[in-house]
This record gives sequence, structure tokens and C-alpha cells, in this order.
Amino acid sequence: MKFIADGMLGKLTRWLRMLGQDVQYSNKLDDAELIVMAKKEHRILLTRDVELYQRAVARGIDAFYIEGQTEAAKLAELAKRFDVPLEIDLKRSRCPRCNTKIRPTPKEKLAGKVEKNTFIYYNEFWKCPKCGHIYWQGAHWGRIRATLEKAKKI
Ligand SMILES: [Zn+2]
Repeated sequence: MKFIADGMLGKLTRWLRMLGQDVQYSNKLDDAELIVMAKKEHRILLTRDVELYQRAVARGIDAFYIEGQTEAAKLAELAKRFDVPLEIDLKRSRCPRCNTKIRPTPKEKLAGKVEKNTFIYYNEFWKCPKCGHIYWQGAHWGRIRATLEKAKKI
């Protein structure tokens, strides 16, 4: 299952990638380009735009209209419709920035590449092989969990 998200869904795209979903996203694509790419790459089109949704469906594209106002509500809709698991497992995660699967990176390779305190307090690090961004389960992790718990309750 692969997705393509419209330009209004940048935040949701980052969430879905963290959850391990393959999501194509660019806010530079217009509606026609989104439809072409969805068709060519067999991706499910996620959109908040009724007109785009109707256009895509009329062309036989698998599309899903997102109604939720909050990220938790949007994630809950996707979990219901597509069985997207609402758990982050970094072994499965994709880079929120570029959609590439992230990989575990030995801590000793990151000396000097992350802030000193981060390096001291955390032991598990992950790196995107494409854009080079480094990830760890830092202080923001509590908020991420809270949003996913909210989504599960919905
Ligand atoms: Zn990346």
C-alpha cells in the first residue's frame, strides 16, 4: 500500500512516514500531476480537496477524502480505512523529510554530529541514508505518543 498526499497534507505526510507508510508528497504538484502520479505508481491519493477527490475517483484512482481537523482525527480515519498501525516502530519508519527508510546508526559514529547533551542522554540513533538526517527518541517523543493515543481513542 502506497500513498500520495496533496499539498495541504504535509504534516500528515510526516506522521504517516514515521508510522512506516510510503507517502509521496510535494507541494509543487498540481491536481493533474497528482492524478498522473497516483495512477502511474499505484498510489492511493489522500486529499482534503473535494474537487480533486471527485476528479480522481472519476478517473478510476483509489482516493480517500480526509475530513479530520486534527492530526489525531486524520490518523484515526486512516487507521480505520486502511489499517494503518498507530504505533511507531523505528525499524519500519521512513524519513519524515524524504520518505526513505531510516536505518540504525551506531552511536560512536555520531560523536560531534548531534548536540552534546543528546549524545550523552540517548543511546539509539537512526539515520536517513538519503538526506542524512539523524533521529532519536527525544523529548518530543511524549507528544508523539500522546497524539497516537488520542487517535486510537477516536
Ligand atoms: Zn531523509
